[in-house]
Amino acid sequence: MLKLLFISTPVGPLGSGVGGGVELSLKNLAIEMNRRGHQVTVVAPEGSNLPHIPVREIPGTCQRMAQTERRENSITLPENSVLANMWDYGRTVQGDYDLIVNFAYDWLPFYLTPFFSCPIAHLISMGSMHPALDQMMTQVAHNFQGTIGVHTQVQADTFPFANLCRILGNGLDLSQYHFCSHPGNKMAWVGRIAPEKALEDGVAAAQLTGIPLKIFGKMQDESYWQKICQDYPNAPVEYRGFLSTLELQKELGHCRALLVTPRWLEAFGNVVIEALACGVPVIAYRRGGPAEIIRDGETGFLVEPDNVRALVAGIKRLEEISRSRCRQQAEQEYSLKALGDRFEEWFRALI
Ligand code: UDP
Repeated sequence: MLKLLFISTPVGPLGSGVGGGVELSLKNLAIEMNRRGHQVTVVAPEGSNLPHIPVREIPGTCQRMAQTERRENSITLPENSVLANMWDYGRTVQGDYDLIVNFAYDWLPFYLTPFFSCPIAHLISMGSMHPALDQMMTQVAHNFQGTIGVHTQVQADTFPFANLCRILGNGLDLSQYHFCSHPGNKMAWVGRIAPEKALEDGVAAAQLTGIPLKIFGKMQDESYWQKICQDYPNAPVEYRGFLSTLELQKELGHCRALLVTPRWLEAFGNVVIEALACGVPVIAYRRGGPAEIIRDGETGFLVEPDNVRALVAGIKRLEEISRSRCRQQAEQEYSLKALGDRFEEWFRALI
């Protein structure tokens, strides 16, 4: 039995949606490690909600999202930083654990690594964003070999230590996602409402095709959303809010397709495997994680990035995709079992 301490992202409480795919990754990994008989404790910002897993809630001010920081900015921490507080707690209890797993995309946990006696596994959730952080990650990658995990090869390739990264993919509790063989007429777009996700391209595709688009996700940037509404006043779109996994998979499963339109290099794209698990084909820009997941012409289409007409061309070919093949790919590659095997092997190698 392994004793694992998971230290969460400092951008927001678990369950808030602010942490994006990291929240789902942490939850699924905690559930699966628990199921395998390991002992998992999660350290997370106050207000976190994670059923069935012991959570140590830590007060403090949340960290700004790395996506909103400019490359040339210095590293900043707010007063009474929840990131610092969580790692201070980790330091005091480290003797009770075999391994600490870091889910934060932040400078501090990398900097602290040599000062801890307990080994630390770092799961990096985004590609390169900031030179100062890259520099600290590079030091850890070289001095603590094997401790850096990423989701995809394209994500690893954004870092100067690409060859030292362990590629771990991701996975889902597939029993929570139901296969839907007969969708309605609508399409879906799922993600944080924030500029790096380029929701406007999905909205433009809905306008061009006339096919209604249901939008699901955390409202992170209200002014960005208002601008989209002004630019496309007549597009057939409907914002459904941020839903629980149970509700999300139900509505998503009834959609004909998921549109994935990120402007940035998406490290993985949890929404892609969630759609596949429901039998929903995915049309995505050929960029980042989604390009490593989707089988072009088989479980969706990979199209030229930032090109709305290419998205529309993909939508017109949807009939070619078998929905059961989509579910099958999720079962073969992205089950909790597959995820657990990859991570358990990684954790054991570090202890
Ligand atoms: N999500 C959700 N409810 C919603 C919309 C999205 O729970 O209504 C979750 C979704 O399940 C996924 C995450 O938000 O886990 C988005 O993660 P992704 O990896 O796609 O992008 P990120 O936000 O990490 O950039």
